[in-house]
Amino acid sequence: MEILFLNPVLKETIWGGTRLKEYQCELSSDHVGECWAISGHPNGDGSIVGGTYDGKTLSWLWQEHRELFDSIDGEVFPLLTKIIDANQDLSIQVHPDNAYAREHENGALGKTECWYVLDCEENATIIIGHNAKTREEMVEMIEEKRWKDFLREIPIHKGDFFQIEPGTLHAIKGGTLILETQQNSDVTYRVYDYDRLSNGKPRELHLQKSMDVITVPYQEPEKSTGIYGITENTNLKELVSCPFYTVWMLDVTDCEKLLQDQHFMLASVVEGEGTVEGIPISKGSHFILPKGIDEVVFHGTMKLILSAVS
Ligand code: ZN
Repeated sequence: MEILFLNPVLKETIWGGTRLKEYQCELSSDHVGECWAISGHPNGDGSIVGGTYDGKTLSWLWQEHRELFDSIDGEVFPLLTKIIDANQDLSIQVHPDNAYAREHENGALGKTECWYVLDCEENATIIIGHNAKTREEMVEMIEEKRWKDFLREIPIHKGDFFQIEPGTLHAIKGGTLILETQQNSDVTYRVYDYDRLSNGKPRELHLQKSMDVITVPYQEPEKSTGIYGITENTNLKELVSCPFYTVWMLDVTDCEKLLQDQHFMLASVVEGEGTVEGIPISKGSHFILPKGIDEVVFHGTMKLILSAVS
């Protein structure tokens, strides 16, 4: 059984920058905002590099070789790992949950996502949640464009981690790089775009759908319950565990063994360099440990973010 290395799909965005270069990405312009690092989504289907499945897409592998993924159910590959480079502020957004998306977005999945802050500027902030106490107050604040009062803006630092439940308003600000692990979905409702123009026109907002799905009042995500993401690895630090995924950090300072005791595991090197089973890897390497690989050994000095479906 072999480790599956991935070739990411890059996305140009009006708010993107050039820092994805630091993660082995070859940029086509100076506003590349997203690297879909481990993705089987039709809007950015990553391909396998090297080995038996060289050149095949992840969605093809999911359909044709489900045994690599412990033969679990699901129409689409369930997770999506992205690196996001926000050179400018992103618009304020919210995602629906599975039930709302199924009904209003042609059966699409809702979106729960989480962010590991790879880097940010000093005194950087992030938008997570809002300050309205009732739905009436929310509608008022949005209609009167009282964004300063409405949006919950909090300080962030490199290495912070945030779980973003459906219904949570969120946005990263310029100068922030994150690694995002999420449900495989691309359904986003835009609430506010700082009144910016794109090709002379404001980008579309989705106010009604947003107001339908925003949770009022804002709720901090629940702490991990210990039901999901159970692993025998004692060297993994759990960042979050929810019904859709569990995300861990692995710090390698010389040599670390990892038991692959999940259906399959996604891995991204976010700092440093080294090897996995003797294969060189470094910041910006992304791979999957399929079912059938029971353990791997890492050497080097690096930090990895790992994830698995719950
Ligand atoms: Zn989002």
